[in-house]
This record gives sequence, structure tokens and C-alpha cells, in this order.
Amino acid sequence: MAILVTGGAGYIGSHTVLALLERGDDVVVLDNLYNASRESINRVEKLAGKKAVFVEGDVLDRECLRELFASHDISSVIHFAALKAVGESTRLPLEYYQNNVSGTLILLEEMRNAGVWNFIFSSSATVYGADAPVPYVETLPIGGTTSPYGTSKFMIELIMRDFAKAEPQFKAIALRYFNPVGAHESGEIGEDPTGIPNNLLPYIAQVAIGRLDKLGVFGGDYDTPDGTCQRDYIHVVDLAEGHLKALDHLKKTDGYKAYNLGGGKGFSVLEMIKAFEEASGKTIAYEIKPRRDGDLPAFWADAALANKELNWRVTRGIDEMMRDTWKWQSQNPNGFR
Ligand code: NAD
Ligand code: UDP
Repeated sequence: MAILVTGGAGYIGSHTVLALLERGDDVVVLDNLYNASRESINRVEKLAGKKAVFVEGDVLDRECLRELFASHDISSVIHFAALKAVGESTRLPLEYYQNNVSGTLILLEEMRNAGVWNFIFSSSATVYGADAPVPYVETLPIGGTTSPYGTSKFMIELIMRDFAKAEPQFKAIALRYFNPVGAHESGEIGEDPTGIPNNLLPYIAQVAIGRLDKLGVFGGDYDTPDGTCQRDYIHVVDLAEGHLKALDHLKKTDGYKAYNLGGGKGFSVLEMIKAFEEASGKTIAYEIKPRRDGDLPAFWADAALANKELNWRVTRGIDEMMRDTWKWQSQNPNGFR
């Protein structure tokens, strides 16, 4: 039996495929390479000393999914494939709902047709919406999302919940990620954004290697200890391991369940810059800019439920996040290209 990983050539997907191969699972990767390179899977296979099956295809392509389920014995699906840029989603809402929501519906229909009932979904802390109190805990209501991207994740969680109510065989876990950063400790795989990065750590790393001049810090007047926003950053390898724990937990899961995957502590933008400087020995030029639309001042996870029920917790701290980001960026100044 194999695990199907959609979006498995991407940032979080590739680290998860590596962790699955390393523990001996068979893996089929489905990725349309819209935001990824085939090279990431080559490197994963080299690190693991084991091959994955790679299918270049789209979750919106029903025929491709039918053929995939017919030709491989799939036990479970981990569904990463999605568009993920919050700002872009406000400009391209139809594309985001089509790819993320319709893509998931088609995947779930074809899983049902193939009799595959185990499902892990990449959700996000954004589902808690703009007014949730911190720390975010799974008992809070979800919704009140402020972008089509966030709303697509919220909608998919509702679809999972309703499908699980209607179909007793369906077992589904939504993992609500906080802020994934870092890279595999080998420096062989990591985050490789196209164009100018939207996210903080890839931006800092590109300033460090001289690809970008200066970081803009979005807002220095928030009601936080140093005036900059706080986020709960989580090492991508810890996050990948959370997927393995969730897969193992599915047999004990009744229907649909959601878990926060975060470290439970907020770090400010200025703290992140300082930690990166310490890990890399580089000075990061930055300037305080106006606030970015839609940014929340501070949020972090209550990760107690995942600690208790998935037997999962973060084991890598801010120093490892920075060390591994720098290793990846300095070894691969142009990413996978
Ligand atoms: P990523 O863009 O690196 O990976 C997504 C992968 O899916 C890419 O390889 C892309 O080519 C592929 N893909 C996109 N649409 C597809 C389609 N229709 N068919 C097949 N493949 C498709 O992003 P990531 O950071 O690895 O994120 C993975 C998942 O985690 C996404 O669902 C994202 O929304 C979610 N998530 C990410 C973050 C984050 O900060 N990185 C935070 C919370 C949730
Ligand atoms: N940020 C910043 N400059 C950048 C990118 C991000 O100051 O160029 C800040 C952003 O305002 C937020 C934090 O860094 O407070 C994390 O942003 P990111 O986009 O990485 O993740 P988000 O929390 O928005 O999902």
C-alpha cells in the first residue's frame, strides 16, 4: 500500500515525502509543478536512498486521478496541493477557489470512487479568522477569514466535516499549520519561492545572500513588546513529522478532526532578524515600513491537543530554523534552478 501525496514536490510536501520514505513507506507524488521543481523529488530520493513514484498531473484532472487510483494501491492521501499566496488570492479569488476547493472536491470524489478513505489535509491558522483570541485553540469557532485563500481552507474543513458525517468510513484530519520555516538539515531541500518572496524568512535569506537589498519590516507600531508582529514559527521538519503522526492516528480517528501544529510561542519580526543574523553571521539591512494590509498583530498556537492525541511536539527551536534556512539558501543561492 502507498501514500498519495498531492503537492509533494512543494516546500512542505517534499519534506514530508522524505520523512515517509525514510520510515519505509511507499509514496506516490502527484504534482503539476506549478510552484515546484522536479529536482526537489530527485533530491528527496537521493537523501532517502529510496524512490517515490512521481506523477506530473493536476488534482483538477479527474481522469488523471482515476488512472492513478486504478494503477496504485493507495491507502491514504496527504493533500498539500493548493495555491497559497494570501495577497494574490484577493486578486484571483476564482482561481483560488477553483484550485483549492474544486481540486479538493474532485480528489475526495475520486477517493470515494476508489474506496480510499484516509485523508490528511493542509489547513492553516488563518481559519481562526481575524478576531480570535490568542493562543488559538481547536475549540474556537472557525471562519471570519479575511482572504479567499483563508476562506478556501475554511470551506474545505467544512466539506471534510460534512463528508465525514455522511460517510462513516471517511477518516480525516485537518492540520492547521502556523508559520512553517527552515529546511532539511542537509541543506539539499528547502523553500524555493518564485519571484520576490512574500514570506519573512525567504526574504531575509535572500537579503543575506545579496539577491535582495533590504528587508521591509511591515509595521513597527503594533501593540506588541517591540512593536513588530509576532508569529508562531515552526521548523518544516517538525511539521513533516506531524503528518506521519497524524497518519498513524487516523485509525483511532472518528470522522473529521482538526489539530494545530505550532510551537506555542510567538516571535517578533525583529527577534527573527536577530536570530538569523546570529546563525548566519550576516547583517540583515532592514527598514520599518507601513503595516501590510490584513496582517494580525500577534498569534500563536495552543498545541496541547496535538501533543496529547498525536503524541507530537516540536523538537527544533529558533536556532535550528535559522541555521537550516541559511544552510539551504547559501548552498542553493538560486534554489533548485
Ligand atoms: P508549495 O506551493 O511549495 O506546495 C504546493 C504544491 O502543490 C506545489 O508543488 C504545487 O506545484 C502543487 N500544486 C498546486 N496546485 C496543484 C494542482 N491543482 N494539482 C497538483 N499540484 C498542485 O506550498 P507549501 O508551502 O508546501 O504548502 C503546502 C500546503 O500547506 C498548501 O496547501 C498550503 O496552503 C498549506 N499551508 C502552507 C503554509 C505556508 O506558510 N507555507 C501555511 C499554512 C498552510
Ligand atoms: N513580514 C515583514 N516583511 C516581509 C514579510 C513579512 O515584516 O517582507 C512580517 C509580516 O508582517 C508578518 C511576519 O513577517 O508579521 C510573517 O509574515 P509571513 O508573510 O511570513 O507569514 P504570515 O504570518 O503572513 O502568514
